[in-house]
Amino acid sequence: MTDANAPVHTRALIIGTGFSGIGMAIALQQQGVDFLLLEKADEIGGTWRDNTYPGCACDIPSHMYSFSFEPKPDWTHMWSFQPEIQDYLLGVTRKYGLRRYIHFDAHVDRAVWDDEELRWHVFTTGGAEYVAQFLISGAGGLHIPFIPEFEGLDEFGGAAFHSARWDHDVDLTGKRVAVIGTGASAIQIVPEIVREVAELQLYQRTPAWVMPRPNNPIPPALRRIFSYVPGTRAALRAGIYWVHEGVGFAMTKAPRLLKIGELLGKWNIRRHIKDPQLRRKLTPDYRAGCKRILNSDTYYRGIADPRTTVITDGISRFTADGIVTADGTERPVDVVVFATGFHVTDSYTYVDIKGPGGEDLVDRWNREGLSALRGITVADMPNLFFLLGPNTALGHNSVVFMIESQIRYVAQAIAATDKAGAAGLAPTRAAAERYNARLQDDLAGTVFNTGGCRSWYMDAHGVNRTLWSGMTWQYWLATRSLDLDEYRLIPSN
Ligand code: NAP
Repeated sequence: MTDANAPVHTRALIIGTGFSGIGMAIALQQQGVDFLLLEKADEIGGTWRDNTYPGCACDIPSHMYSFSFEPKPDWTHMWSFQPEIQDYLLGVTRKYGLRRYIHFDAHVDRAVWDDEELRWHVFTTGGAEYVAQFLISGAGGLHIPFIPEFEGLDEFGGAAFHSARWDHDVDLTGKRVAVIGTGASAIQIVPEIVREVAELQLYQRTPAWVMPRPNNPIPPALRRIFSYVPGTRAALRAGIYWVHEGVGFAMTKAPRLLKIGELLGKWNIRRHIKDPQLRRKLTPDYRAGCKRILNSDTYYRGIADPRTTVITDGISRFTADGIVTADGTERPVDVVVFATGFHVTDSYTYVDIKGPGGEDLVDRWNREGLSALRGITVADMPNLFFLLGPNTALGHNSVVFMIESQIRYVAQAIAATDKAGAAGLAPTRAAAERYNARLQDDLAGTVFNTGGCRSWYMDAHGVNRTLWSGMTWQYWLATRSLDLDEYRLIPSN
């Protein structure tokens, strides 16, 4: 007889089944390491499962925003829409037979390192317990929706939902719809829904730089070329990569070059918006790249639609049937869409992690700020890995490239532990501090830190805890081979 409540043992436990979790699982499978994946939802996909809002697409071309080892030559668009990306991830999951390793509806909320056993004990909100030598978080930074605490929101009688929790049961036809926020999600939503609604109120706090982007379907003949003519798909991927790295160079080494992008952004406004006052409202007053640079050929067209009003007065409160702005105007609203982003710098701490001696990682991070060695491992926390952890998000290229670098690094750490016959390894404080001091120095000159905006890249103390400081090939170099001098091996008991 087996006890249904007995802890489940495995060597490596992966949290999440987005690009990070799926990629990590494939690497461990190939390395012959026993693993399980814990997924809080009932399907794989992470971001690409959760975000189903109208117009949801990736703003990095798919030939680059996909695994290097699983190319898909027949992407239908250069910048794919959500269903095709989710299908891609489902296909990869199927191909590698990963479903059998996934425990769904397993929302991890606590992990405790056992100093005697030298194992992580991991608990889900449903009461399940897992015991593993290695714990790898593939949860990423953009999975906890952020809704501002507006006064009176509880009293609002209409439908209201976050862009990442789109309520498809709400019919927007003929409704007065408020979209709050003008970030990456909002600029995709606005042009899609404006056709249906009676009135679209767009509440803008800070305008975004939006570059032109034609995204017509890739002609079938071209897709066939990518499928059958050797080298063409790889050449396209390389071309996309280096163009984006060029932008990364400007962002991290020479922000003044971004003025060129600003000219393009201003042209994008001018060609769609005729009203000079509205043009002024939509033109950012900070350097492009300080916040994520967006791209769309349809956003300003959606704003030019007579049904759209751009409202720049701050929201002061909600009423039972509308929104009141700081100038005292009350506008009736039927549906509110919060395109207000995610809890980012506080998202890594949603799992309560207690390391050796019961040290609380969340407390440490709250005290000292979020940081990790090479964005992956944490000083004195054995066998704990973060994929897309602190300072490894990007403003300019595909995060899948970063994820693959990290996966390789984690696989090396596990192999190094095994080779040494050790129970595990943890980075030293000195190595982690050295690495982060250098990283923060490098970030100081980037547009993210100097561009004159307020962005979610910064934590509450104005320290950039989110973005990588250079180009992605530099990160690839920084993670190419694990340096055991930065680590302390933990002997087996
Ligand atoms: P976001 O970029 O954080 O944008 C949130 C928007 O909400 C901003 O315009 C922000 O204004 C506004 N906002 C926040 N609090 C507000 C308040 N209290 N009152 C009024 N406005 C408020 O969020 P997102 O658009 O969901 O995108 C988040 C990230 O997800 C992106 O940067 C990107 O990395 C990723 N994403 C990617 C894609 C893609 O195509 N790959 C698509 C969507 C999202 P402020 O600017 O003034 O703060």
